[in-house]
Order: sequence, then C-alpha cells, then structure tokens
Amino acid sequence: MTEENAKEEIILEGIAASPGVAHGAALLYLQKELDVPCYDLQEGAIDSEIERFDQAILETREQISAVRRKVADSLGEAEARIFDAHLMVLEDSALLDEVISELRTTNKNIEFCYNKIAQRYIAFFSSMEDEYLKERVADIQDVARRLLHNMIGMQKSNLGELAAHSIIVSEDITPSDTADMDRNKLLGFITDAGGQTSHAVIMARSMRIPAVVGLHDATNRIESGDELLIDGYDGIVVINPSESRLFKYGKLVSERRKLDEIYSSVISEPSETLDGTPIGLMGNVDGAQEMQQVVEMQANGVGLFRTEGLFLRHHGYPSEAAQYQEYASVVQSAGDQPVIIRTLDIGGDKTLTHDAAQEDNSFMGFRAIRFCLENLDIFKTQLRAILRASASGNVKIMYPMISGLPELQRANQVLESVKAELRSENQAFDEAIEVGAMVEIPSAAAIVDLLAQEADFLSIGTNDLIQYLMAVDRLNDRVAHLYEPAHPAVLRTLKHVIDEANRLNIPVSVCGEMAGDPIYASLLLGMGASSLSLAASMLPEVKYLIRKMKITDARALVDEVMQINDPVAVVRRLEGFRIDTIGDM
Ligand code: PEP
Ligand code: MG
Repeated sequence: MTEENAKEEIILEGIAASPGVAHGAALLYLQKELDVPCYDLQEGAIDSEIERFDQAILETREQISAVRRKVADSLGEAEARIFDAHLMVLEDSALLDEVISELRTTNKNIEFCYNKIAQRYIAFFSSMEDEYLKERVADIQDVARRLLHNMIGMQKSNLGELAAHSIIVSEDITPSDTADMDRNKLLGFITDAGGQTSHAVIMARSMRIPAVVGLHDATNRIESGDELLIDGYDGIVVINPSESRLFKYGKLVSERRKLDEIYSSVISEPSETLDGTPIGLMGNVDGAQEMQQVVEMQANGVGLFRTEGLFLRHHGYPSEAAQYQEYASVVQSAGDQPVIIRTLDIGGDKTLTHDAAQEDNSFMGFRAIRFCLENLDIFKTQLRAILRASASGNVKIMYPMISGLPELQRANQVLESVKAELRSENQAFDEAIEVGAMVEIPSAAAIVDLLAQEADFLSIGTNDLIQYLMAVDRLNDRVAHLYEPAHPAVLRTLKHVIDEANRLNIPVSVCGEMAGDPIYASLLLGMGASSLSLAASMLPEVKYLIRKMKITDARALVDEVMQINDPVAVVRRLEGFRIDTIGDM
C-alpha cells in the first residue's frame, strides 16, 4: 500500500481486559432489538407471504439442526437437546396456525404477524409461576429472533458460527456469548461497555482470548472489515494500524512469548516461596473443558469451580445426572487434589431468562444463594449431584454471596437434608465434606468470626467485594475508573478478613481476579492468605513470582503499603516490589 492511499490510523483507549495482542478484520456484532417492519399487503399477496414464511421456517430449521450437530459434537448429546426444544417451538402448530390466522384477518406482512403472536406467547409464559415453563420464554425468544432475522433478510449474528479469524466488535458481550465463542477461530474482542471483572471478560482471560473493554463508542467508529490491532495488555485498539506499529507489536509479541517461556519453566517446580513457605496455587474453572489446562499447569486443585457455565451452556437447568457427570469429570481430572465446587451463582450478569435480566440492580438482587434458597428444587438437585461426585474424590462445597450467618445456616440445613436423602437411598458421598463461604459482600467481611462457626474455610471474592465496597458496578464502563483494588478501604477490608480468619484458625484463600494479578498476589500472601485460586493461564507467572519472593519481604510490603493512602502510589509500590522480586525482564 502506498502512503497516499494508506488509511488514517486511529487509536482508541479502553480497559485492558484480557492479555494478548490480536491483528485482523473487525466483525461488528450488534445485538440491538430487531426493527420488525409493519405494512399492509397488496391484494392477492397472502399466498406468496405464506410461501415466504414456509421458506424462512425451513431455513431456520436447517440452521438450528446445524447448531445442534455442532453442540452435540463439541459438548455432548445432553447439551444438544436444548435445540430439540427449539425445533419444537419453531414448528409448534398452535403458534403457526395463529400466525396464519392473524395474517388473514389483518392483511399485515408476515414478520409483523409472527412477531405479534410470538410476543403474546412470551408474555404468557413469563407470567407463569412454574420455573420450567418460565424457562421456555428463552427458547421462544431465541427461535423468534432467528426466524425474524431470516425473514427480514439479516443473518442472525451468532458468535458460535463466526467466520474465521475475526475480532468481534460489540456493544457488550454476555457470559453466554463467551460460552459460544470458538477460541480457535476468534482472534479477540472489544466492547463499548464492560469492566475488568465482568464474567465474559473472566472467561476470555481463561480462554486466552485478548480483549479490550470499556471503549464507549467503538461500535460507532468501526465497521465490519476494518483492519484492527488490539492490545489486551494496555487496553489499546488501533484502527488501520501503520506498518511501523505492526512491527512494534510484532516485537512485543515475541518478547511476551519469551517471557511466557521463562514463566512456564517453573510449572513442575513446587509452589513455595524462596524462604520455604508452601503456597496453594489453585485453578478457577468454568467446567470440565478447562481441566486440561489446570492439570497441565500443575495447579494444586480447583479453588473455584463456577458452576453457572454449565447452566448457561445448557440454556436452563441441567438434570442431576448431567450435573453429576460434569462434576465427576472435573473431580476425576483433579486426581487427589481438592475441587471446590461453588453452588449456583446465577443472576447479576449471568442470567438464564430474559425476565431475570430485567431486574433492577441485578448484582444486588435475586442472585446466587438468595436464588437457591428460594428455589430449593434447583438447589437440592445441585447439592445431590455435588455430594455424589464427592464419593470419588476430594470435593468441597462453597456458597456464593453469603451476606449473613442465617443464610449460611439455612444453606447448611438444606445440605444436611440432602445428605439424609442420599443416605436413605444408599448413595455414596463424603460424609466429612467441607463447606466454605465466599466473602464477597462487605457484611460478610465484617463477621468472619460468625461465619467461622458454620464454615470450614473461607474464600474472598474480590471481584464482588470491591464492587459492593466501592458501590461500583463491575460492568459499568462509566464508573470503571472507580473500581480500585488498591483503594485503602479494599486493602483494609482484605487485611481484616485474613487477620480474623488466621486468628480463628480457619483457612482463607482469595479466588477473585486480584489473586491472578502478579502485583496483588504477593500482597495477599503477605497478608496471610493460605492459597490463591486463579485462571490457569496466569498460574505460571504467579508461581514464578512466588518462587522468587520471600514471605518475610511480602509481610514487610504489607506493613509499608497499609500506610500509603493513595491508590496510584500503592500500585507503583507493588509494581516496584514485583520488579525487584523477579528482576526487570
Ligand atoms: C468474586 O466475586 O470475586 C468471585 C470470584 O466470584 P464471581 O467473579 O464469579 O462473582
Ligand atoms: Mg462473586
């Protein structure tokens, strides 16, 4: 390309969400609601309108069947069954008859008639008490959207069916979108919205997909096909990158690769500090598909198994058998290492139904243990599956979003009732199974002594703890700059929780994203956390640091940093400690 026709290079700055560099063509993925046209048909057009409808149904059927085959191959038959439900919705004769009768009486275009009837069904099912029927709303919405896209002439933009080697540009990305991503095809993603600890971003990090979020208006400035360079280390996106910039990034990538090789050299070494303190380094996983990486990185087990992924991939509530299969598979991969299975943390940005998504303040709403304690069927089914999986390995149970002692007591009562049920059925499980509580709500952080009465261990969820402590929604890009792990309030709270747990002799780990950040890992260990649980992709770097660090120095670092009130100065000091420890590589 000559200089005259080279396009102008444009740089956008956002939030570094998932490390890595990607270079490729943009693919705009817009999820805005469909604009369904409405117009009167010309005389005699009814038959051709019905023909158009039949054709769209056929096309939609083929698409759903293709997705079903793909899911059956990659995730298994049980997961693929959701698409049988989609096919049934698509061909539901009552709904189709109503659409045709609407067409004949109103003489409006077919997509308008179809949308009207589909919306009526959605409203009806949404109003049902029965959870199973409510769940059908998502099926109808999904099928209706796909069929309407086909009729309106736009292909449903589906992340699971993406063209190879693209960088997704989107307003936002949900955890379900990330679950659909094909890590072999997708180069990276960037979004207008989002913060560093949204679940989509956490998943991208563990899938090693580079990402930049919080760009505000990337979707207005970028078109599909634009050449993009994304830098997930520093949160930079370059549209039409120049040759010299590509060269610079080429060098950065090869330097990073060399660093990764250095970090990886310690994978099979023990996880202990230079002065001999052993440190538990565990993996965070979303499901069995991530265990290979955890095993390869030689983690000391799984410190956080987020079970929501299973529910999201299943597009509903998986049966006890399906859950058991998944949990047992993770436990088997872990060998004799512990696996901490966290009970369902649905809600917040992880919603199964669209009506749940409409909840105001969903992060402070009907989420996690709150949902489970009011949906005992779902909770008990999960506890049965976890307990049964405990028969074949070292399993622990952990409850998310505990805000007070009564909640923890209630959850444990339900657990005891499920144990009794299993005993009466002669089903094997670990009678001495340990139970832990997440400390991720400020009220829980203030009552460690009370939680210790009912829990065998604690795990600090810094992602939520920071958002609630600072009143900063972890998804909102407009307040993302206030999400500050180095804020004195966060550091004092973390220190208080860890001090209290150590005073009471109850193990305390950290499983939020701070644990996988090399500058905070040493601080958390200096405070006295007994183990860290992090994305397997970050394990080598954190282990490398631990092996070069003296625990006595990390303790001194804590004393020093607790005296610094400015978060920027704290980060500078922590970065200095990291570099002094590993050397300026
Ligand atoms: C946390 O809040 O830090 C945590 C580990 O849980 P999640 O990110 O799944 O909310
Ligand atoms: Mg949390």
